[in-house]
Amino acid sequence: MTELTVLVPAYNEADGLGDFHARLAAVLDTMPGTAQVLYVDDGSSDGTWAAISALGAADARVTGLRLSRNFGKEAAMTAGLDNVDADAVVVIDADLQDPPEVIPELVERWRAGYDVVYATRRVREGESGLKRLTSKAFYRVMEKLSDTPVPRDTGDFRLLSRRAVEALRQLRERQRFMKGLFTWVGYRQTAVVYDRHSRHAGKTHWNYWRLWNLAMEGITSFSTAPLRLATWVGVSAACLAFLYGLWVIVKVLAFGDPVRGYPTLMVVILFLGGAQLLALGVIGEYVGRNYAESKARPIYFIEDRLASRGDNRTGHARE
Ligand code: UDP
Ligand code: MG
Repeated sequence: MTELTVLVPAYNEADGLGDFHARLAAVLDTMPGTAQVLYVDDGSSDGTWAAISALGAADARVTGLRLSRNFGKEAAMTAGLDNVDADAVVVIDADLQDPPEVIPELVERWRAGYDVVYATRRVREGESGLKRLTSKAFYRVMEKLSDTPVPRDTGDFRLLSRRAVEALRQLRERQRFMKGLFTWVGYRQTAVVYDRHSRHAGKTHWNYWRLWNLAMEGITSFSTAPLRLATWVGVSAACLAFLYGLWVIVKVLAFGDPVRGYPTLMVVILFLGGAQLLALGVIGEYVGRNYAESKARPIYFIEDRLASRGDNRTGHARE
């Protein structure tokens, strides 16, 4: 069992992995306590696994995990978290966009009693204005829609205490939006600010399609607001339809029926349309609840316990 494990998801990172590990190892060398590095090869098609094996041969701290195919970063992180046994885990990108030099600072906060220490970036070098704009818009929408706010300008670079990792392990949902899940588990969370650099080697695996999918996943797995929207649209359309139907009836009674059949037709269409939208909204509400249940997330995590009076320790003990 080690004190600290650094978890590195890597997908086609063969070019940069040597440099990355050199910088990470230099940081770990300066830190007290035992440390391990766990590389998760997310089904790379280049020499990433060979590079990891070579690092393992040269450095006893290196361990590796290789996934059977490319599952995506969220799954790679989950695989890593399921396979660590450490008091603290740091998740970091392999492309040196997250500087390993920040790790001692994260560990320091953890020693001060925090469970989740996320690194928030101050600048975003090497990213287009459009990417910056879209990511800002995403965080804003998330904040409005969801009751699990995702901290802004925060990637997956963070430290998790043992109990935070154990909590995360219990979240077995298949649609994994890790940034949301990290926040969702709760416990004591804090931020450390750092400067984000542009990619060191290789190229980003993200494109707008992948980012869009991630954003959709973030919104739909942490909020049923879109379903609720359907209910509201349904209810207001139904109300308007009923009112308009009434108006048509009143008009016929007052002024007769110049176009034969029109009033009945109109009333029937409006009534059925409104009723259908309403029913759809109601179904949506139930689908939303069903959806939340099917994720089978645990209902709570216990943070602290008060020791029984028979216990001779004073106060309460942290687990
Ligand atoms: N990554 C992964 N699986 C994937 C895509 C990416 O494990 O399918 C890893 C990648 O090797 C890197 C990290 O996730 O360590 C971040 O990826 P990238 O730098 O491409 O994303 P960006 O920094 O542009 O958001
Ligand atoms: Mg990157």
